[in-house]
Amino acid sequence: MRDDTQCVTRAPVELEGYDSLTIPVHRASTIRYPNAESFAARFERGADGYVYGLYGTPTHRHLEYKITELEHGVRTVLAPSGQAAVTMAMLALLRGGERVLIPDTVYGPVRDFAVNELAALGVEATFYDPIDLDALASLIDRRTRLVWIESPGSVTMEVQDVPAIVALAKAAGAMTGCDNTWASPLNFRPLDHGVDLVVEALSKHFCGHSDVLMGSVTVRDDDLGYRLKAAFGRLGIGVSPDDCALVSRGIETMAVRLDRSSRSATSIVGFLGSHPLVESVLYPALPGSAGHAIWKRDFSGASGVFSFSLRREVSALAFPALDSLKLISIGASWGGTKSLIAPTSVRSSRTARPWTGADYLMRLSVGIENADDIREDIERFLAALTSEAVPVPQTA
Ligand SMILES: *Cc1c(COP(=O)(O)O)cnc(C)c1O
Repeated sequence: MRDDTQCVTRAPVELEGYDSLTIPVHRASTIRYPNAESFAARFERGADGYVYGLYGTPTHRHLEYKITELEHGVRTVLAPSGQAAVTMAMLALLRGGERVLIPDTVYGPVRDFAVNELAALGVEATFYDPIDLDALASLIDRRTRLVWIESPGSVTMEVQDVPAIVALAKAAGAMTGCDNTWASPLNFRPLDHGVDLVVEALSKHFCGHSDVLMGSVTVRDDDLGYRLKAAFGRLGIGVSPDDCALVSRGIETMAVRLDRSSRSATSIVGFLGSHPLVESVLYPALPGSAGHAIWKRDFSGASGVFSFSLRREVSALAFPALDSLKLISIGASWGGTKSLIAPTSVRSSRTARPWTGADYLMRLSVGIENADDIREDIERFLAALTSEAVPVPQTA
């Protein structure tokens, strides 16, 4: 063989005897076949067989397996973001003329997808009050194919009665899907409550380090799982093995991170709840808060993500006061090691359950820093609300 050919051929490396403690990254578009016959029969390899990079490598299988196991499901499909996991699942299931019911408190971009793309396809998306079961029951009709659930709701944290919603949907022959990103399967398992498909934005708690975008859809019915897998493949939806390895690594510490974040959040919530400048704290794990009873009944724990609002007298000063933060970053997303705050307006994105609270809610994602440092930073922010001096922006 000539040198230039040798440059491109594979070395005959022996895998026998090699068993890494870690998850190897298998990168591939092409999968090689031992002969022409097996290539011709490649689509008979089954949903877990290796056919083409888009349909997964052993690195993908490892992550799919881990998520399936944690969710108590039978199959998981991966998508390039949490948003894609929700929208691709809906596109795979919904047809023109059908109806999907979506909670008013759904993750904002999903609402936008419903009123744009779903509407253009002739799918009727109706938003429902997430905690009014009678209102929901009156909306479920024969055209209703899917009832979407997201609990607690984005930013405003309403906890939904998942078993009751599943019973209503089942009685009408509709499917249910649940966005479980806040809880993760470590704190709530929708499939155990009869939900048909559960979505996680893996970008949040699973990855845990704010550097990967990915989402998953897990089901407990094999046929449904196969249908989703086939539809995702036809739509060309796949994820990179490098990202899978990062999410798999994140899963190893997820329980430890969630435990730490929720403990810190509990102490910070207690501090905020008794602060004179804070109007309300929205955190289902807080005794006496809205939704606490259902959270306690169904969930085994909380994450470190919650919202709070400021008293009206100081709310106009919230933006400049946020600039006084030294540790907590201002930014979207959550579930990483670093604490984040996002001032969020929800009034314009509530149609079935109008929001009458403060214009801006402060959504806090408590990271794994020392809780005292996080609390001191929030104290700095609260102090800036009442100080006469205009806060000087941080330079470094
Ligand atoms: C962040 C988020 C998503 C979207 O996840 P991305 O990976 O950022 O697209 C979906 N649902 C909920 C509840 C989220 O918080």
